[in-house]
Amino acid sequence: KIVLGIETSCDDTAAAVVDETGNVLGEAIHSQTEVHLKTGGIVPAVAQQLHRDNIQRIVQEALSASRISPSDLSAIATTIKPGLALSLGVGLSFSLQLVGQLKKPFIPIHHMEAHALTIRLTNKVEFPFLVLLISGGHCLLALVQGVSDFLLLGKSLDIAPGDMLDKVARRLSLIKHPECSTMSGGKAIEHLAKQGNRFHFDIKPPLHRAKTNNEKGKRGRTHRAILFCKQRDLLPQNNAVLVASGGVASNFYVRRALEILTNATQCTLLCPPPRLCTDNGIMIAWNGIERLRAGLGILHDIEGIRYEPKCPLGVDISKEVGEAA
Ligand code: ATP
Ligand code: FE
Repeated sequence: KIVLGIETSCDDTAAAVVDETGNVLGEAIHSQTEVHLKTGGIVPAVAQQLHRDNIQRIVQEALSASRISPSDLSAIATTIKPGLALSLGVGLSFSLQLVGQLKKPFIPIHHMEAHALTIRLTNKVEFPFLVLLISGGHCLLALVQGVSDFLLLGKSLDIAPGDMLDKVARRLSLIKHPECSTMSGGKAIEHLAKQGNRFHFDIKPPLHRAKTNNEKGKRGRTHRAILFCKQRDLLPQNNAVLVASGGVASNFYVRRALEILTNATQCTLLCPPPRLCTDNGIMIAWNGIERLRAGLGILHDIEGIRYEPKCPLGVDISKEVGEAA
């Protein structure tokens, strides 16, 4: 089985060809970061135009690099949710045209499901595992029980961590720093923080003023999710796996903090390499492979398929977790 994956949900136009064993046969990506840095944020119409300008070339590059003939593809997988409407629309209409030309099945992809499953391409990880997705638009904790079987344990109370880092970087004008002029806000902050003095400011940990009347309430949310899942036998008592993914999970300070937590709770922390944490076509193609293998959501009739800018991931049990933990 070989899948072509196409990603345009935000500001990266990306494509990749991946086979059943997780071999990346070809990939290409066009990042719009530099353009959006100059305008101080993503202007959806500009993102849409850049996707339109680049998608044909990017898909062609990924296919050429793979050295397969398009007729060898088993399916085409494309992000259709969630994301910026104008961006999603470009990837979807391009893909549907290609699906029609090549007469291949279509696999609609949920962008956050793809971030969560990326780890199964790079590491041997069985279900179930806990995933912390921290990115430009999301901050969520979920139990992954199967390819499209997610329990949503909790999500951000306000903005996503990547969005926050991008806003901070903008306020600090990090784009003007010669070493950071092409980096995303989060990456620029990580880069410069390495040269900083961590004791210079006394920054309180997040939620330190949250109302708590017991010890449990003081734990970090990921810690509580681990305990909740173990108590309910949703995760194994020993060697449970915590996966961190999404753009902000490429941050090594964040990874180290999570490692301290997983060491203390007899869990294993696994993160995809940074370039697979941020948006890419490989994770979309791999999600297509996962869905093909599981026989899930493979469309032979593309009539009526629409993109969805907002779409929750999995069954939301966050209320139950909040009351129990
Ligand atoms: P979502 O996945 O929620 O739809 P997105 O696709 O826009 O959002 P990603 O590409 O997954 O987000 O991640 C991009 C975010 O990751 C940006 O906000 C960026 O600042 C942040 N980021 C990238 N590299 C790092 C890093 N090294 N440290 C911290 N944050 C980073
Ligand atoms: Fe993303």
